[in-house]
Amino acid sequence: MKKSNIAGRMVAGVDIGGTKVTFILWSDESIEYKLVLPYAAQSSREFSELILKGMADLRQRAADVGASVMGTGIGCAGMVDQKRGVLRFSPNMPGVRDVALAQIVAEETHAPAYLENDANCALFAEWASGVAVAHSNVVMFSVGTGVGGALILDGHLYVGRHGFAGEMGHIPMLDRGLLCGCGRHGCLETTASGTGIERYVKSALARGSKSSMTAKDAGSARVISHFAQNGDHLARQAFKQAARSLGRAAGGIINILDPDMVVLGGGVAESGLLMDEMKRVAQQCSLPLLFEGVEFAMAHYRNDAAAVGAALLADQLLKGQAVYSM
Ligand SMILES: [Zn+2]
Repeated sequence: MKKSNIAGRMVAGVDIGGTKVTFILWSDESIEYKLVLPYAAQSSREFSELILKGMADLRQRAADVGASVMGTGIGCAGMVDQKRGVLRFSPNMPGVRDVALAQIVAEETHAPAYLENDANCALFAEWASGVAVAHSNVVMFSVGTGVGGALILDGHLYVGRHGFAGEMGHIPMLDRGLLCGCGRHGCLETTASGTGIERYVKSALARGSKSSMTAKDAGSARVISHFAQNGDHLARQAFKQAARSLGRAAGGIINILDPDMVVLGGGVAESGLLMDEMKRVAQQCSLPLLFEGVEFAMAHYRNDAAAVGAALLADQLLKGQAVYSM
């Protein structure tokens, strides 16, 4: 980091993912420093210790260039209580429950800390400095291992009554569909996620479908995407069925919310194999007047989306700007 472009003010962003935690220092519209710590925390205490270790490092890095951490945004998968800054439950960490993350980080950094769902952070990054700048009504689908989502309505992050809004992955699509991680059947996530794509290929191979993929290849949506790009019919079908489900869901949401833009993000969407079919089906499933002029865009931020969004969220909250819809 160069001392000259810091001017003493930095915010921190933290993204708590399934297998690692990403910590960044954000200043002047860019990532000044990034630290990634792998983890397999079994308990709330181990987990808290890991977060504190990362935050202590960020503080030191900031101090090294004469800056200080003015505030921290934390993005985490799962159910978060934004108002109290408490991580209620995350499917990635079954042993970790009810951790007062914002308070723990605030005490370590002697500065305010804010907790938000990671998908909400990713959309906030797009809205504050990515593809959705200057749009007031934006819907995001994040397709990775599961399917997440988030909403900007009337220029504010919409989190709903409990703070859990935007669970696109659990839109019920089928009456008697596949079993979802949430315990219900036929959710969008069962077909449209990386896991859904893998499951589609595995069961087709088991039924004897022709493909150059092996059962091992079917264990990774990324590998399946490479086969699809090389023209493997089954691999292409797997992405197509996922894109169709996403399109149906997007069409329904367009009818409800009349948005300006639909953003598609997440590791599985990065293959570029979902967008065209999703858009085509969304058009079929929405009212023409509502579909007209809706922009579809690939997310700008990739791996760092949630960490950047968390930092930007903290930055705006520190400046006293209204982030949330009331
Ligand atoms: Zn579900």
